[in-house]
Amino acid sequence: MSNGPVPRPHVLITGGAGFIGSHLAEACLAAGHRVTAIDDLSTGSRHNVEQLMADPLFRLVEDTIADPSTLGPLVEACDTVVHLAAAVGVDLIVHDPVRVIECNVIGTQAVLKAAVQHGRKVLVASSSEVYGKGAGAPFGEDDDRLLGPTTKSRWCYSTSKAAGEYLALAYHRQQGLPVVVMRFFNTVGPRQTGRYGMVVPRLVAQALAGEPLTVYGDGRQSRCFCDVNDVVRAILALATCPAAVGQVVNVGSTEEVTILELARRILALLGGDGATDAGGLLARGLIRLVPFESAYESGFEDMLRRVPDIRKITLLTGWTPGLPLDETLRRVVTWLAPARLIPGRPAEVG
Ligand code: UDP
Repeated sequence: MSNGPVPRPHVLITGGAGFIGSHLAEACLAAGHRVTAIDDLSTGSRHNVEQLMADPLFRLVEDTIADPSTLGPLVEACDTVVHLAAAVGVDLIVHDPVRVIECNVIGTQAVLKAAVQHGRKVLVASSSEVYGKGAGAPFGEDDDRLLGPTTKSRWCYSTSKAAGEYLALAYHRQQGLPVVVMRFFNTVGPRQTGRYGMVVPRLVAQALAGEPLTVYGDGRQSRCFCDVNDVVRAILALATCPAAVGQVVNVGSTEEVTILELARRILALLGGDGATDAGGLLARGLIRLVPFESAYESGFEDMLRRVPDIRKITLLTGWTPGLPLDETLRRVVTWLAPARLIPGRPAEVG
């Protein structure tokens, strides 16, 4: 028997030109894997993967995941699928719910069907939005979900992601498909666009432009922002963890911060206003409170707290988040600051 070279793992990343997808592609290539990214470039961009294009182990397929004739052969050619393609962002959710539902439900079903057909493992990206507006924190994977009425578009994202989870778990139970459902909490880092609502790139861009930072509501709502590099480490750890198959797993940081404090920290980082408390920054007009009704839609309900219980992923893989929020904010500033100085480069935020 010949001892030929061990074949490289081949990862198919749906949404591979998106924010998390492009970072994952980089990490997989750095680990010596072959990477195929499929992306319709609706919210992702070619720009995110430009630095990978010359790598012979990387391929970008600009297409939708909904067409089985494109997706099938790509799934067949890979070992593992990481399904990140999704319509995300509160702005998009409120203003284009049809796209959100179709992409997240029909797209996920297409990926799972192709994976069943070719017997490939799938890691499915879900979201902490699945927990809805429950006030309990931290959220554990088996906690109940609490959602608003179907007349409010805000909840269609949560429901579409939950439908994707149901589908993945059902294919696992009924057809033996190896799946892992990853519930991502707020993820931040370079290349995240603020176009669809994400708070960190929006506030950093505002601060860089010398504009007031728009904090919605009273700013006392809190979130835990996890660095995208930590999230990528979690995906890679889950991909090779046999005990994670068939499981739903939270992925996120546990460093909780109010949005008002987030705005203060961004200003401190940029302008040395760290000693000023948020009240002082409000009084000086550096932070502006915007009612939710004007930011989104009338009757909009925001989550007060969103903190993950990450004991499960730590137990399964040993993963814990590593980068503190201030370091991530520094990286976002470093990424966005030169972007503002290059004429003609498409605006990534706003
Ligand atoms: N937010 C804000 N200003 C903005 C954008 C968002 O204060 O310009 C708030 C938003 O209302 C929410 C938090 O920041 O309370 C996080 O928003 P994001 O859309 O980033 O994530 P999610 O709401 O999904 O946690």
